[in-house]
Amino acid sequence: MVNKTCFYCDQGTELQNLMIEIAKLEVSTLYLNKDQTHKGRCIVAFNRHVKELFQLESSELSLFIKDVSNGAMILNGIFHPDKLNYGIYGDIVSHLHVHLVPKYQESSEWGDSFINSPDQKCFLSDKEYTEIIQIIQERLQQER
Ligand SMILES: [Zn+2]
Repeated sequence: MVNKTCFYCDQGTELQNLMIEIAKLEVSTLYLNKDQTHKGRCIVAFNRHVKELFQLESSELSLFIKDVSNGAMILNGIFHPDKLNYGIYGDIVSHLHVHLVPKYQESSEWGDSFINSPDQKCFLSDKEYTEIIQIIQERLQQER
């Protein structure tokens, strides 16, 4: 099922302005969030337009949570946050996706929700994005 107004389904410039594909996982795709205010922030998006977790088949749900968990484990190993935050919102973009956000105790957001879309965003150079993506891809390869 493809939703024509959804940028995850559309896979066009709107998506490319916000994130970069890192890898296909079992039932989802791992993206690097271009705003790296939270260093290592990624998104795990389910590979089909589904709105809610409870709309997944039980086997899909299990594989999706496994994808989220593997992604989180890899980010934890690279960025060593004090805690990973998992954000499932989708008010505006209802395509099922999880924000994986490394959090640090020294952050002003510690103990509270991360700011999803900060006014001051932190964009990196293409080279810096590529370096982060390559490290994550290497770790994913090692897990397979
Ligand atoms: Zn969609």
